[in-house]
Amino acid sequence: MDKKIILFVAGFLLVLNVFAWQEVFALNSPHYLKVYFLDVGQGDSAFIQTPGNHQILIDGGPTSAVLGKLSERMPFWDKDLDLVVLSHPESDHMQGLLYILQVYKADYILWSGVTKTTPEYKIWIDALEKQKKMGAKIIIAKAGEEIKAGNVLIDTIYPLESLEGKEMKSTSNDSCVVVKVIYGKGSFLFTGDISSTAEKELANSHELAELKSDVLKVSHHGSKYSTSDLFLEVVNPAVAAISVGAKNIYGHPTSEVLQRLEKFGIKVERTDKNGDVDFVSDGNKIKLLNN
Ligand SMILES: [Zn+2]
Repeated sequence: MDKKIILFVAGFLLVLNVFAWQEVFALNSPHYLKVYFLDVGQGDSAFIQTPGNHQILIDGGPTSAVLGKLSERMPFWDKDLDLVVLSHPESDHMQGLLYILQVYKADYILWSGVTKTTPEYKIWIDALEKQKKMGAKIIIAKAGEEIKAGNVLIDTIYPLESLEGKEMKSTSNDSCVVVKVIYGKGSFLFTGDISSTAEKELANSHELAELKSDVLKVSHHGSKYSTSDLFLEVVNPAVAAISVGAKNIYGHPTSEVLQRLEKFGIKVERTDKNGDVDFVSDGNKIKLLNN
């Protein structure tokens, strides 16, 4: 090949390469908040990376699948999570965290402090003790508790009072820790598995602005006993993310919830259909990365 042509081709490739890197850098740019709803089957797990590079995990799903998901999102040498949140001690949210806490060190752990008698609950308590010995700070959730991760705010809005030590005999769904993650003008609401009873309590106890969120993590995998008209009206999200397993035995997400979301004109993203549902925010606009 002519020398000039070779130089031209090499130059052209270099330019292409620079553009490719710019694309990568734009996505990794430090002023973005990234929120990933992880496809972990029938359960909940979300990973958040803040502009200040804080790493937050909210719930761990029902299996060890979350370990693989985090290894895709974090460098292999980084085994430190800044904050781990357990919404409530049910296996479809907690089991994966038991695996995580064997491998990762958590700086802060936010949970409700309720008690249960299940074997996996005992493992959770042992894991907390182990993390405490390694320096973790345990925070018992109640409305008003605010955690700052740089310029990202993790605002606990439920439970309204501390439930520490309260025994959960059947379901602990309405003991769920509900947090709103706020960055600039954008916000994400993580509802765990709360029912419409807790939704009503939230609506009655908070100003509208405190509940209004751009992205709603639909409660309880789309159970018909959650995501009421009232709650959708006050939260008024643009997008709803449903964390749910394909062909689950519960019929989640229910047609009732899907219809309610449609009625309010809310765009629906589902982990069973879309895989991981990824959002990125620059503090002004939230962008869905999957489509
Ligand atoms: Zn659940």
